[in-house]
Amino acid sequence: MPPSKEERREALKAVYQQARSCTKCPQLAATRTTVVFGSGNADADLMFVGEAPGKNEDEQGLPFVGQAGKLLDRLLGEIGLERTDVFICNVLKCRPPGNRDPHPAEIEACEEYLMSQVELIQPRVICTLGNFATKLLRGDPTGITRLHGREEERMIGNRTVRLYPIFHPAAALYTPANVEVLRADFARLPELLALAPLPQPGEEEPVPEAAEPEMVAAVDDRQMGLF
Ligand code: URA
Repeated sequence: MPPSKEERREALKAVYQQARSCTKCPQLAATRTTVVFGSGNADADLMFVGEAPGKNEDEQGLPFVGQAGKLLDRLLGEIGLERTDVFICNVLKCRPPGNRDPHPAEIEACEEYLMSQVELIQPRVICTLGNFATKLLRGDPTGITRLHGREEERMIGNRTVRLYPIFHPAAALYTPANVEVLRADFARLPELLALAPLPQPGEEEPVPEAAEPEMVAAVDDRQMGLF
């Protein structure tokens, strides 16, 4: 029997508890304020994967709460979605000091958390924001400028998903012309979400689940920003 939505949600909370005290990257563990695990709908069809928490995220424990997050919220709103409809996380769950680039060893150490998130949330579409997430999930060094706006079927962890690379919203903040590129790429998301679910390994037919996202009030869920 595949795990129920509730079982997957509980398992996600257990992974969060594990990540909260992670010390696999000694420098990041020593310099972070909080572990930014990710937030949103634990049963989302759409998952966004950014690079790593910045200063605001590190302070608040939530992803994309600074300027790039405001742009992300605006673009989501333009396609009729809110944060409570999607799940947002990053390649790294801890802030690299001074917002430096993630190191390859850190990306590798943190990958198991991202894979668990994909396996437990079971998104149908994964939207990678920028180069780090795109290169990691495609397992290929091709850059975002060549790939953005083109979806492809990929196995991520144990799930077959539609992977959809787009520019990182922070890049659009630096280069305003990229906001329109990002907007055009966002505009295709509803279409991708409306496509029939992809067959999953070992699954005869996709099993439809209850549509209503469950709102919860447990302390854990609040801390995590989980809806
Ligand atoms: N940039 C990211 O990649 N992630 C965040 O959470 C915030 C900014």
